[in-house]
Amino acid sequence: MHHAAGRAAKCALCGREESTPGTFPTVIGVGRVCLACGMGTVKCAVCGGEVKRLTSSRFQGRDLCLKDHMKEVEKYKQHIVKTFDEDDESVKEILGRSLSDAPEGYSLVTVRRARNSMHVWEAEYEKTEILQSRCS
Ligand SMILES: [Zn+2]
Ligand SMILES: [Zn+2]
Repeated sequence: MHHAAGRAAKCALCGREESTPGTFPTVIGVGRVCLACGMGTVKCAVCGGEVKRLTSSRFQGRDLCLKDHMKEVEKYKQHIVKTFDEDDESVKEILGRSLSDAPEGYSLVTVRRARNSMHVWEAEYEKTEILQSRCS
């Protein structure tokens, strides 16, 4: 594959090509956009505020203002979900491993059967310091 440097980018939203390479700004989670699309407004999925596309981001399929983007990223980082398959190991092994394989700095919150599956289990972990501050 050729490197994209020096080549005209296409707007990720409307497909328009930039006339001078490197002039389209980048929107987090969307890609390079033309100025017309960048100046258009989007509604933040969290606070409902209208912001310019240029000062928004897309995170996990939702449009967010930059303030909520930071918050959502933080929240996302604080939770880790690991999946185990009952087809590969017994429930007893899964329960044991969900504890022993906890990611560093994280504590096991719960182990549950995945919503859409009869044999997949999900272990949910939370950052240890958060858990402790909430319990004390
Ligand atoms: Zn565009
Ligand atoms: Zn917002």
